[in-house]
Amino acid sequence: MKRLARTRYKNAVVWTGFGNPLADVLTIGDDRIISNDSEVDFEIDCGGRAILPAFIDGHSHPSIVAKSSLGPDVTHCKSIGEVVECVSNWIAANPSAKWAVGGSYDRSMAPGGLFRAKWLDDASLTVPIVLHASDQHTIWVNTAALTKVELPDSLPPGVEIGEDGRPTGMFFESEAKNLILDAVPAQQEAELVASVERQLEHLLSLGVIATLDAWGDDSSESIFDQVRSPVRMERAIAIHPGKWRSLSSVRTAKFFVDGVLGAKTALVTEPYVTDHSHGNSFWDMSELLEALTHFNELGCRLHLHAIGDGGVQIVIDELRTLGSTKYPATIAHAELLLDDQITALSELSVFVCAQPLWARVDSLSVGALENLGTLRSSKLYRHKDLLNANGLLSFGSDWPVSSPNPLLGLFTAIYRCEPGSEATLNIDQSISIHEAIRAYTETPARQLGFERVGRLEIGYSADFVMLSGNPFIDNGKSLPSLFVDQTISGGQTLFTRR
Ligand SMILES: [Zn+2]
Repeated sequence: MKRLARTRYKNAVVWTGFGNPLADVLTIGDDRIISNDSEVDFEIDCGGRAILPAFIDGHSHPSIVAKSSLGPDVTHCKSIGEVVECVSNWIAANPSAKWAVGGSYDRSMAPGGLFRAKWLDDASLTVPIVLHASDQHTIWVNTAALTKVELPDSLPPGVEIGEDGRPTGMFFESEAKNLILDAVPAQQEAELVASVERQLEHLLSLGVIATLDAWGDDSSESIFDQVRSPVRMERAIAIHPGKWRSLSSVRTAKFFVDGVLGAKTALVTEPYVTDHSHGNSFWDMSELLEALTHFNELGCRLHLHAIGDGGVQIVIDELRTLGSTKYPATIAHAELLLDDQITALSELSVFVCAQPLWARVDSLSVGALENLGTLRSSKLYRHKDLLNANGLLSFGSDWPVSSPNPLLGLFTAIYRCEPGSEATLNIDQSISIHEAIRAYTETPARQLGFERVGRLEIGYSADFVMLSGNPFIDNGKSLPSLFVDQTISGGQTLFTRR
């Protein structure tokens, strides 16, 4: 039988797994890591560059990015004026578009994250416009959209009403947002499939070979089925109160327990300092327990969005009552954690899928910091405490909320600041470069149930990235200026930087 091609990557700095010393050689045979003593057919001189396991993003939204990238992209706009200009240019370039649906605008551009329909009217008085906020929990619409949709007489919470008694153009969280989004014509399936494939291609160029698409709905199933990509995209289907009993098996069931800190919709045990509210839970406890039991018995993975300490407590209480689950559950975000919650999450062996890029002072975190006040902000993003308690810290970007570039995430987990900035956020929670790499490789692989993935040891899948330099010489300081030169998965080179 013909022996398969074997390649040795030499003169490298190889991170083979947490707890192992760095190596200078990596040898692969076909799709696996093999012993460095093996005879090889090819040798590649890495010139001292680092090799890490390929990244796995435990929570991102490529399908949301795919949808919004078909509309106006206002991600880089720095002012409301720029947003208006960007949207009106898009409308002019797409004269046949019946709606303009895009994103993601920076919530910190308006005080309290509150925008007004009339501001967007400058972009169009006739074409309905919907823009998603960077937190993906809020939309801002123009007057044409408000007119187009017949809003019911009794409005759900989450629709902001102005002094004149009319909606202002802001809709918070699913129930309110869907009043508008349900009226938007469905995008062409083929266009969406191609767009999802482009987003996954982008992930590959950043060294990401797998992710959980954390917010699908019924319609995304058929899109997912058609997507062809070497990036492994796991599906999570959002489960909503009152609407889940007819659903059969889904691979991962995603539950929104609460909202977000910036919009004060995350459930907190002590009130927000800005308006003394507590946020809210989207579920009644007994219905949530019923739903978790149902999907656990169907053999689905459970993925629960909980951000405030009140939301986290609900997850802990529910999982304790549920007892053992078929697969370990994942809590996504868990931004605000009390001491005993850290112990409980570790005891329950729950994966905590945190977003490393949130652990810094920037336009995304400013709303949370304001709403929580200084004292409680010190309980945000407790990565180190989680690891000290033997918790399972897994990283995810929550793209498009934050950049999907793992090198930026790793840097932030170590330095807790923006590159070049002195302003750190809870620097005592900084973790080591090795802990950070594990959280973006091995732990999310376990979270998603992948076997023999996430380390570079004999018998593991040959999934790795070659960086443009060696971040170990300066303890990761250079990470933001490095690139992924190559992404290799299953022994195949899937991306090479030009
Ligand atoms: Zn998310």
